Formats: sequence, structure tokens, C-alpha cells
Amino acid sequence: MTQFSDLGLSQPVLQALDLKGYSTPTPIQEQAIPPVLEGRDLLGIAQTGTGKTAAFMLPSIDRLRASDNNIPFKSCRMLVLAPTRELAVQIADSAKDYGALAGLKVQVIVGGTSVNKDRNKLHRGTDILIATPGRLLDLIDQKAFNLDAVEVLILDEADQMLDLGFIHALRTINKLVPKDRQTLFFSATMPKSIKELVAGYCRNPVQVSVTPESTTAERVEQYLFMVQQDEKQSLLEMILSGRHDIPGELERVLIFSRTKHGADRVVKKLGQVGIPANAIHGNKSQPQRQRALDEFRRGKTKILIATDVAARGIDIPGVSHVINYELPNVPEQYVHRIGRTARAGKDGVAIAFCAEDERAYLKDIHKLTGADLDRLPLPDNFRAVVDGVGPTKPAPRGQNRVAKKRVQPRPMGGGKPRGDGSGDGASRPKKPGGKHSARKGRPGGGRPGGPRRGGRGGQGGGQGGGGGGPRSANG
Ligand code: AMP
Repeated sequence: MTQFSDLGLSQPVLQALDLKGYSTPTPIQEQAIPPVLEGRDLLGIAQTGTGKTAAFMLPSIDRLRASDNNIPFKSCRMLVLAPTRELAVQIADSAKDYGALAGLKVQVIVGGTSVNKDRNKLHRGTDILIATPGRLLDLIDQKAFNLDAVEVLILDEADQMLDLGFIHALRTINKLVPKDRQTLFFSATMPKSIKELVAGYCRNPVQVSVTPESTTAERVEQYLFMVQQDEKQSLLEMILSGRHDIPGELERVLIFSRTKHGADRVVKKLGQVGIPANAIHGNKSQPQRQRALDEFRRGKTKILIATDVAARGIDIPGVSHVINYELPNVPEQYVHRIGRTARAGKDGVAIAFCAEDERAYLKDIHKLTGADLDRLPLPDNFRAVVDGVGPTKPAPRGQNRVAKKRVQPRPMGGGKPRGDGSGDGASRPKKPGGKHSARKGRPGGGRPGGPRRGGRGGQGGGQGGGGGGPRSANG
């Protein structure tokens, strides 16, 4: 087995890895580190969770050490561009860890914070700068910073930067960096627009791909509820409070909403039934977002609702479930979302809530990933519960206590099979046994003997795809 010491990294970097407790490189690290150390440009097709941050950071730190240039005035030697504030801060934390013994100065600048403070802290320059494109260009426009001394340029989550409308910023930055710098370009997906950007940024890059283009993570089990829009909140509450079993043990649940408003509404309604949750999205202040993430990371809050933009690239170990409360209207987002689970060698579960008017999105996801999601049955008497007349709808006080208690980690296995009886034809699984499985390599696609890690006996069935209306333009 390849060790970090086989890859040509320097002693200080190897020691920093030792301190982090990493012994063996991940596949992307194994493939990317040697060519990057040689000075080659790199195109990495990889999602977060693959270890890509170290794949670009470790050899770049050694390249900076080898070139031994001074810290440039109002500039940096290595520039990392990231789409979101959270990801930039996370990369900076990694850079500090990995570069701890290399004596390199690391700075991070992101939007939503004081631009004056950024100007001051960059006045004397830095070895490594991690930046979101907008804030970087602000400082360049103000003549507070320049890119003349960049030796290594990294674009992380490039597809997300394009989705966020940073294309012009990226074109401008490309004109401002020295032609002879080294470029490491990372994207989880490779649509045409990204290929064009790569052609502008990279020179004959070595291509490293750790997940096949646009396919979903191998270890994520993917399931589906067909559920009406107005039933989603009730279904979510029943799942989170343990009143409706789903596969896997609920440890930390990341829920995706398409809109900021939707994320806030879910948090509020969960709060009303005694289920604590936080939200991260663009309308929250940077400290609020950071606090919500920290609480989720530490396990203080076990449920986090996020929009795609806010959660992108965020590495949170131990996310057991991703729930797509609303399906993304851009199918690539689905790949990013479910990639938040099944990290660091663990398995994960992704659950999609699909309403009638989201069938077209489901079809797009299927087209992109080839995955058919195993359909799960709705709870017994579900419609009655939603309408507030069902026997299982508890009184608010009692429900509070139950929900608070049950949302703690608990085994989900051993749930007895239930009927699909929603009373709602549109939401009923078509037939027992899935036609195909979303997990690769499961012959026949059903879930023999039920979900792999507990849960009820096989009520799965029905393919996710379907016809449906046009794509909406929102989100
Ligand atoms: P990333 O894809 O860069 O977001 O990394 C995903 C997670 O894997 C992070 O928590 C890293 O700290 C961790 N990680 C990266 N490289 C290794 C490694 N070689 N061994 C163990 N964990 C790693």
C-alpha cells in the first residue's frame, strides 16, 4: 500500500500529516501529489470527502517551500479560490494544519466581513491566500491587493463557482495571474462550461478523476418518498422523531431546501414540535452560519437545514443522512448534496422527498446519475396525520418530549413492516421490490431482506422517474 512517504513530500509536511493521524493517502492524493510536485497543472474531478484539499495543499506547500521566495507586498504566492465563505474558512484551517511546520503564512478573505480588516491583514502579503472571488476582486479594484506574485493557483469547486455566477470574476482573475503559474483545477462535475474554463486556465493538465463524471457516491444508499408538498413537513417530523423508520441509524441529519425561506420555515416548524435544528443560508450572518456549522460538527445540534450554496463543499464527518426535502432543479446539485454523507469510509443514506411537481427533477437526476432510488412507503394513516386527525398525531406537549428524546442517536433496525397506506394513490409505492437499486452492484436492484442497515422489510419499489412539468427557474 502506498504511504505518504512514497509520494515525495517533505519532512515538515509528513510530520504535519503524522500529527493529523493520516497514515495512507486517499486515491486522489496518491494520484495528484506526484505530478503536482513535478510542477504539472492538474484537473481533478472529485467531490469533497475524497481528500482533495490535502491533494492540492500538501504538494503546493512543498512547491512554495522549494521556491523559497519572500512574502510579496500586497500579494500572495499561492491563491486558492473557493465558492463559499464556509469552504474558504475550512480550506484555510486545513492549510494551517498541513503547513504548521512549514512556517507559511495563511490568510483567508471572504465576503460578508469587514473589507477594511481584510485590506489591513493583506497589506504585508501572505504565502497562502484562500478567497472567495468577489471579495478578492473588491480588494484588487481598491488597489489593496494584486496577483502578480502568484506561483500556484487553485480553483476549488469550480462548478459551484460557475453556478454562483462567478464566471466573469474567474475570467478577470485568469488575466491577472502570471502566465507561468501552476494551476490546480477541481470540480465535482465536468459540464461543457467547466471544460471551457479549464482550457483557459490550465496547460496540458494531468487529469485525475476519483468518481466517474457525474455519478453519485458509491456508498450512499438512495431512497425516495413520493409525497405531496403539504405532507413533507409532517413526514420529516415523523422521521426525525422516530415515528417512521427509515434505513440507517439517525446520527446527524443534513436536510436540503431549495430556498432560504424554505430552510427557515422547516427549522421553525421543527422547533414548534420540539425538534431542535439550525439553518445555514445566505441570509444568515457569517457568525450565525459558522456557529450553526460548529454546533452540527460537535453534535450539539443533530439537524442542520441548508441551501445548496451554503452547504457546498462543507466537510462534516458523521453525517448519517442527507434528506432532500426539496429536490434540486439542477441535477448536479443532487450529486453534491448526497456527497455530504458516506464520508471518510463510512456508509450513508440519502432520502429524497419528491412531490408530484418535482417528478421532472427526479427524472433529470436519474438521467445524470443512472441511479434509481428505492421507494419507501409512507407511514400508516399518513394523510390523517397530516390533516391533524390521525391517531398518531400527538399533543404538542407530549410530542415535545418524545421528539427531544428520540432525535438522539438510536438504532433504526428492527422496525416491523408496515403498510404503505397513505390513502393517496400518487404517493404509494408501485410494487414491492425495487426495479433497480441506487447502490451499484446490487443485483436486481431490490433490497434483499430489507434495507442493509436495519429498517423495515422490503417495501421498496417503483422507479423514481416519471414525466412531469417543465423545470422551474428558481433556486
Ligand atoms: P476533503 O475532501 O478535502 O474535504 O477531505 C475530506 C476529509 O477527509 C477531511 O476531514 C480530511 O481531513 C480527511 N482526510 C483527508 N485526507 C485524509 C487521509 N489521507 N486519511 C484520512 N483522512 C483524510
